[in-house]
Amino acid sequence: MKMLKGIGVSPGVAIGPVIVLHAEDLTVQKRSIDEKNIPNEIALFEDALTKTRAELLGIRKQIAKDIGRDHSDIFTAHLLILEDRTLIEEVIARLKEEKVNVEYVFSSILQKYIIAFSHINDEYLKERTADIKDVGRRVLANLLGKPQEVLSSITEPTTLVSHDFSPSETAMMRKEKVIGFATDVGGPTSHTAIMARSLEIPAVVGLATISKEISKGDTLIIDGNHGIVIINPDEETIQKYHGEEEKFVAYTHELDKLKDVAAITTDNVEITLAANIESPLEIQSVIAHGAQGIGLYRTEYFYMNRTDLPTEDEQYMAYRQVAEEMLPHAVVIRTLDLGGDKFASALDMPQEMNPSLGWRAIRFCLERVDIFKVQLRAILRASAHGNLKIMYPMITIVTELRRANALVEEVKAELKRENIPFDEAIKIGAMIETPSAAIISDLLAHEVSFFSIGTNDLIQYALAVDRINEKIAYLYDPASPAILRLIKQVVDNAHAHNISVGMCGEMGAEATLTMLIIGLGVDAISASPFLVPKIKKAILSVSIEKAREIANKCLTFATGSEVRNYLNEQGQLYFPDLL
Ligand code: PEP
Ligand code: MG
Repeated sequence: MKMLKGIGVSPGVAIGPVIVLHAEDLTVQKRSIDEKNIPNEIALFEDALTKTRAELLGIRKQIAKDIGRDHSDIFTAHLLILEDRTLIEEVIARLKEEKVNVEYVFSSILQKYIIAFSHINDEYLKERTADIKDVGRRVLANLLGKPQEVLSSITEPTTLVSHDFSPSETAMMRKEKVIGFATDVGGPTSHTAIMARSLEIPAVVGLATISKEISKGDTLIIDGNHGIVIINPDEETIQKYHGEEEKFVAYTHELDKLKDVAAITTDNVEITLAANIESPLEIQSVIAHGAQGIGLYRTEYFYMNRTDLPTEDEQYMAYRQVAEEMLPHAVVIRTLDLGGDKFASALDMPQEMNPSLGWRAIRFCLERVDIFKVQLRAILRASAHGNLKIMYPMITIVTELRRANALVEEVKAELKRENIPFDEAIKIGAMIETPSAAIISDLLAHEVSFFSIGTNDLIQYALAVDRINEKIAYLYDPASPAILRLIKQVVDNAHAHNISVGMCGEMGAEATLTMLIIGLGVDAISASPFLVPKIKKAILSVSIEKAREIANKCLTFATGSEVRNYLNEQGQLYFPDLL
């Protein structure tokens, strides 16, 4: 039995067998081969191609069944690469010529292709580099007799471990099969962590070495409540954690009883408590946990795990479905926030030195107006069927807001000409997630009708701390005085201009901070659906007057720990069972 401490990013307890993804070392050694063994090497190569083909067909079928055909297309592209005769013939020719082992030949040719593709001027071909790498890795793994465990082939409830999961991999996870996961890297607001919460899968990240410590057949306990992972627990520990699991489920059910209660402080101030979603599949969970609408719909997941771009109609159908199902509540659709750690296969997004400071989100959309306008048309068309709002991500300067708003007007005019109905009074908001936006929030307030503070990025940029780097996770503290001051500034500027301000970053989901957040004047909070009841309980336990007093006191502290200690003391008085 071995215990590892990481960062608990999604609550709950999972106990089960473990699978490690991408664990195999696929380094290849060069060996000479006898002339007479060449047919043998060719047979090995063909066998690996056959196995890889079967793997890809299996995944494609599974994904099409679980999440839809559009998302399985990427594997059709992978199959085409696999079947490319030029590559196969080149491997066989060089094998005969150089008389070295086939893994070596294959991997050096692959390397050559990867380099060549990444330098090509054709944007589409350049984009295929990642796919070539992916397929190449599969073939190599089969050649080395180390087949990769793949998410979609998991049939039994399993815990998963990996160095990290890409956002597209987490998007493929399903709660029935993946009961918990753990990674070496990551912090509480990495997109892997956000997906874990939205899928309600217990998860611990930032464990540094876990992917190297697991062997096939191990059993794992993942305690997302305390950030602990136990490898091969003894019977007594398993029993103890089964107890914890039951307690957690019972507690969650208890909180869910608040489903139909509004989030009102003891002195009758209502806070809008909505949910964050990544896909329309989560609507059931939003309704089950009693959130009042969607405060953040991260639409970029639409663009991931596929080789083409979502069409206007496809987006329209999805947005319309969410709008209708959430009525009478509002749904805030955040426009495309690609870049950073989120990429779309169908788009040419260059590798950048500093992706989070790079060509992402609104910066991308204002350049790729063709793509942006398709999304705006889809949102506007869907707005005729519900209460939709538009929100732009990563705003840094006023000009961005003006240009984006001008594009919305352009699209509205087009729709009008075409006699297509839409909500003419649709509200538009800006995310406040860069220090610049917070500092000039008085200027931005003239251009929009609401703000939503994206604390995940705001903290990353204000404290200069990469939100996915576990080494410096200690610095990543929403309770830092700098963050409290920025929030206060944003709220004061918003209210001075009569616009509302919400919070949709993960800070809003921390019940210990709720009194501080509402005390600072934030009007709305949006969080992962299943964390909504906990925040509601905190809101129901305190008066706004007291919360303001608490927030003012918090603003006097010099460190995040002092703020937290004080908030914990207060929390013990107002909602001890939540802590
Ligand atoms: C944020 O930055 O706080 C936010 C809500 O956006 P995302 O987590 O998708 O970057
Ligand atoms: Mg963000």
